[in-house]
Amino acid sequence: VGLTRSEVMRRIRGANTRPERVLGAALWSRGHRYRLRSRNVAGRPDLTFSKCRLAVFVDGCFWHGCPDHYVRPRSREDFWAAKLRENVQRDLRQTRELADAGWTVVRVWEHEVFTHLAVTVRMIERAMRAGCHRPRRAEWRVLSAVPIAAASAFEDRVLVSLADPQREKNVQIRRHTRKW
Ligand SMILES: [Zn+2]
Repeated sequence: VGLTRSEVMRRIRGANTRPERVLGAALWSRGHRYRLRSRNVAGRPDLTFSKCRLAVFVDGCFWHGCPDHYVRPRSREDFWAAKLRENVQRDLRQTRELADAGWTVVRVWEHEVFTHLAVTVRMIERAMRAGCHRPRRAEWRVLSAVPIAAASAFEDRVLVSLADPQREKNVQIRRHTRKW
């Protein structure tokens, strides 16, 4: 069963709270001040901490190809495949451009905010304390997903490394629509 438009929209919007707001509120309550989607920083990161040049993006699992939660839509396949590739390539480009300009870039998955908020907050605080010189661990994201055969439950995926866009790997998984 393919995703209907309303299912896709639900994945895009999230249930009721947006993850960047949830993460921002948790950081704010611990005394960290940031700008939300600042126009002055390339790529308009979700949160920017300009004092230590730290940029935080909260990436939606569907839009940005989370290896655990990306779901390949079964309608308008070409459209969604192109969209995914475009988004992931933009992530790679933005991350590199900011890093080249001396920013530390932390990218977290939407699901991490909901399942591991405290851990995520601590990770961001570590990045602040380290003087913002430690980039986030290598992070894989789905660049493409195609069924191995017509109507097959399995799909071939190409994953790309955020830390090193030259690195790609292939995995084969059974299509699932599990959320966190
Ligand atoms: Zn996810």
